[in-house]
Amino acid sequence: MEWSTGDLIWFDPGVSHWLPGEVLECHKGANVLTVQAVINGKPQTFALTNGEGSVRKREDLGTTGVEDMTQLTDLHEAALLWNLKLRYDRNSIYTYAGSILVALNPYRMFDSSYGIEAAQRYRGKMIGALPPHLFALGAAAYAALPNPQVVVISGESGSGKTESTKLVMQYLAAVAPSAPRGQALVTEQILEAAPLLEAFGNAGTARNDNSSRFGKYLEVYFKHGAIVGARVTQYLLEKSRIVTQAPGERNYHVFYELLGGLSNNEKQKYGLVEADKYFYLNQGGGDCAAGHAGSGADWGALSRAMQVLGVGESEQEGIVKILASVLHLGNVYFHRRQLRHGQEGVEVGSDVEIKWAAHLLQISANGLQRALTTRITEARSERVHSPLSIDQALDARDAFAKALYSALFNWLVTRVNSIVQRGGLHDAARISLLDIFGFENLSENSFEQLCINFASESLQLYFNKHVFKLEQQEYARERLEWTNLTWMDNTPVIHLLGKKPVGILHLLDDESNFPKASDSSFLEKCHYNHALNENYCRPRVGGREFGIRHFAGQVWYSVDGFLDKNRDALRPEIVELLASSKEPLVSAIAKPLFTQAQTRTLPRGANGRFVTMKPRTPTVAARFSDSLQQLLESMSKCNPWFVRCIKPNNDKTPMRFDMPVVLEQLRYSGMLDTIKIRQSGYPVRMKFQYFVERYRYLYPGKLPRGVPYRDLCRGILEQRPINLTAGPDYQLGATRVFLREGLERQLEIARADCL
Ligand code: ADP
Ligand code: MG
Repeated sequence: MEWSTGDLIWFDPGVSHWLPGEVLECHKGANVLTVQAVINGKPQTFALTNGEGSVRKREDLGTTGVEDMTQLTDLHEAALLWNLKLRYDRNSIYTYAGSILVALNPYRMFDSSYGIEAAQRYRGKMIGALPPHLFALGAAAYAALPNPQVVVISGESGSGKTESTKLVMQYLAAVAPSAPRGQALVTEQILEAAPLLEAFGNAGTARNDNSSRFGKYLEVYFKHGAIVGARVTQYLLEKSRIVTQAPGERNYHVFYELLGGLSNNEKQKYGLVEADKYFYLNQGGGDCAAGHAGSGADWGALSRAMQVLGVGESEQEGIVKILASVLHLGNVYFHRRQLRHGQEGVEVGSDVEIKWAAHLLQISANGLQRALTTRITEARSERVHSPLSIDQALDARDAFAKALYSALFNWLVTRVNSIVQRGGLHDAARISLLDIFGFENLSENSFEQLCINFASESLQLYFNKHVFKLEQQEYARERLEWTNLTWMDNTPVIHLLGKKPVGILHLLDDESNFPKASDSSFLEKCHYNHALNENYCRPRVGGREFGIRHFAGQVWYSVDGFLDKNRDALRPEIVELLASSKEPLVSAIAKPLFTQAQTRTLPRGANGRFVTMKPRTPTVAARFSDSLQQLLESMSKCNPWFVRCIKPNNDKTPMRFDMPVVLEQLRYSGMLDTIKIRQSGYPVRMKFQYFVERYRYLYPGKLPRGVPYRDLCRGILEQRPINLTAGPDYQLGATRVFLREGLERQLEIARADCL
């Protein structure tokens, strides 16, 4: 590229992102370019030698940028990045890429932009008629009913997915006409379900003070435009957090809210003291205060939310008892003890906590003590209690606590559904909202991250499929003039993880069903089957981990604990203990565990050894893959709307736009390719007849009779000036007319003027 003085350029002087500059001088012989950029209000001069590759022609974005990035003429990541920055710096956090919404987290509330008034303003408006907004997507999805719609909200942890989901839900609640008598309450119940599930399923993490530790698919049902019910599906609550937290992280909000909200008298009733006295709450070393930045909720608000959702007083008390007993269990500790015959065992250090837990759960204290210190083995149809080691006892204690809490969470979700999922919804129209875990790459990654990132990959594939694959297949079928665009296809990674029979999750399942297997044998099988796969990485010699090249970056997974986490086996004596509880809520939440444990009990061979489990019982990975498959199937029946949430910085700082942080997210989400196809492709399509009926006003005079719709369609479009940025902005296919989103907008405006 030849540069001359005055050219506007993007350049990277070694800062890993792009700066806007202007060419001052070009020394051709020396291959040096002198450029000027304004940094923090001060002009600075740079001498770039041989700047090929890191110097690009720049389109002037003005001071405000563009609302829709498909309007950029010079498509380059620098333009995307700076366009977002210009807008963000002026408090415009939303920007379109066609009908895809890019949302930058402001980390600060703009109350006025989300009120009822704003909701009413967007009602009935098409995308682009008003400044970019989540409500515009909500309005578009609502307008497209009764065809099923799904709003897919993606982004890293802390990028704003959950807040966006709630805002779309609030929008729908605000604009849907109030339902017939008796059903008006359901909208309130759906809205209250969010804070309730957040209290039990969200926690403070290093990345987000209100991080969702489960995935959520909320289907909202409509009849005659009114909300008539909903259904929540929950994915993979993070169980490890109940018993352990990384430095600076917290347990689930509900514990702190409970301890902050109970009076001293009430606390005494449950044997509770301050939060920092509980092992399950104080490992993160952080703050044990009741509130949390996300919702500022307290126990009172939570209790009201439960009431709205039909959790009565006695059930609420049952919930408190379960939460309190989890805390008591965490404080149970063990001593080593010498047994007869030189055997070593453990005993409980002090039985106060055991007594409290047993009392609250209404189970036998002796039974509990035995379940935590011994294991039942059956030899010659006799039950023998054999002693556990200290580590095994601690594991038993933690497993018990995790089972209690996660069973409670499942029960809550079922309860919410029993209230909001009214009868007769099968013929209702629906808008689904998907708020599922973002891609995770922590300092230590385990089985949970593998599942989460598998889900992320699957959703990325869904996105790619809609934006690129199906789109281009359709162009080919309709015989449009089109040069295929390439995109980052992540199918190979999905196969590496999930394809039968040797995908990593299947290898894991095979090993989990084989009693003699270990985390190491699992790792060996991974290496053996995938060493040559370019998306698989082996560690240096002796490392107990494997690496996967995900669409969003490479992640190392350390295999320790993979098998146990995947088996998630609960010892039957623990389940029996819970099922025997005299506290109705405890025996109720234990029921589903019971069926699970029965099928999971390992059968034994004649010699008393475990044999391979038969029939194969669903492991965590198998259940998760199944539910993910169901989710994708449900979504595939819907018309999708995409929201890409972006985290502007890594410190949760309000309104700070950190260029490299944003650039990385733009890169791995494939935003540039997305904008290219939205800009040069034809995302809007209509049957010829529909088009002619809709826009016949734009034809001068009467429409001629007896002319095929396809020709009438062309006739109407030829009345308009042709816009030839990146090719014509419409094409007539074999059965339908294809339009750019910009042209559709113009047609709609012209039509509104005529009407
Ligand atoms: P994610 O679900 O993607 O992990 P969240 O939706 O929980 O992220 O957002 C993290 C935090 O960012 C929220 O607790 C809130 O403080 C802030 N936040 C997110 N979206 C918005 C928004 N639209 N306006 C104001 N603050 C927001
Ligand atoms: Mg979230």
